[in-house]
Amino acid sequence: MPVLPKIILKQGKEKPILRGHPWVFSGAVARAEGELSPGEIGEVYSGDGTFLGMGQFNPHSQIILRLLTRTKEVLDSSFFKQRLLQAHTLRKKEFLGKTNAYRVVNGEGDFLPGLVVDRYGETFVMQCLTAGMEKLKGLFIDLLVSLFRPQSIYERSDIPTRKEEGLPEAKGLLYGEDIPEPVEIEEQGCRFRADVKNGQKTGFYLDQRENRFLVQSISQGRKVLDCFCYTGGFSVHAGLGRAREITLIDSSEEALKRVEDHFILNRLDKIPFRLIKGDAFDVMRILEPEYDLIILDPPPFAKKKGHLPGASRGYKDLNLQALRLLKRDSLLFTFTCSHHMNWDLFQKIVFGAAVDAGKMVQLLARRGHPLDHPVDLSHPEGEYLRGMVLRVL
Ligand code: SAH
Repeated sequence: MPVLPKIILKQGKEKPILRGHPWVFSGAVARAEGELSPGEIGEVYSGDGTFLGMGQFNPHSQIILRLLTRTKEVLDSSFFKQRLLQAHTLRKKEFLGKTNAYRVVNGEGDFLPGLVVDRYGETFVMQCLTAGMEKLKGLFIDLLVSLFRPQSIYERSDIPTRKEEGLPEAKGLLYGEDIPEPVEIEEQGCRFRADVKNGQKTGFYLDQRENRFLVQSISQGRKVLDCFCYTGGFSVHAGLGRAREITLIDSSEEALKRVEDHFILNRLDKIPFRLIKGDAFDVMRILEPEYDLIILDPPPFAKKKGHLPGASRGYKDLNLQALRLLKRDSLLFTFTCSHHMNWDLFQKIVFGAAVDAGKMVQLLARRGHPLDHPVDLSHPEGEYLRGMVLRVL
């Protein structure tokens, strides 16, 4: 085996690694041997010289190493192929439900830190979030092509966090035919057009799929308010579930244009809907209390821990408004996708809103990511989507 660069940790700093956490922070390192260049593979040892694992370095990042294995082994194409196959066996049809769009690789959650691959039918979309994965881009393109035979692979590494890795943002076709714009997908009887080239995330909120399915199943006869609707994912499912009427709010004109397209594509012409472009915080204040189902799916308010107090006020305000707008015996689907907002705090915020709104509220279910967004238990930071289904009396 070639001699690899290595880092040796300060005494005691091996504990999180021994418990399975995949990140080594630069502050935990006592010294390095060999040249640590961005994306290179190397080894990590505890202060007393015990081998802990191998991973990818990035001396420019606070996370100086992302662990790939705890065994001394060759990290070649067949190693990564195994990881992809392991990810693939989780994504069985019977687990995913009826869809041809899902997450193929979920970074740390699939033990491939920094790599995200989403599938939209025969189009694959790839995000390389770290220097390590940037370096392996070519290898993963080859592996994806040989395992899945996609028509195209498109890169959406246009993510600001790449800066922290010392990488520029990047996007464009990596393999195959230029993709139709947008790409049509189907899930649970609904058709959508995902703008994988320019849309938010990799084009669609795949992480809300199971929650959309639930909305479809309980929408019949309800007057629905879909706040932060993006291209109308929840609303189209509500429409197919025979909602009575739907109001959608989003601040993005581009997204709202797609909503109209989605209603036509799904032949929802019998369901009255109205689109409101604006700031949901303001719009909700002027609506009448006449809804039977509200979906609140705002963007992350707390991207950093320090943002939590402000974010908490934002969530409280939104949930208070939503509770005010709901009629007797109605449903609220309320979400947060802020990494730093934990279940306990989120529930307390919503409870506070219920008290202020003077409503009796039952918790029916907690909802998170679907099965194709697994979280490594040793890496709880990978969990970000938290939602509650509430009945409002
Ligand atoms: N529910 C959507 C995803 C929502 S993502 C789905 O399942 O597909 C968050 C959305 O909030 C984005 O579409 C963004 O344009 C919108 N947004 C961000 N800030 C907003 C604001 N203050 N008021 C209204 N919409 C906002």
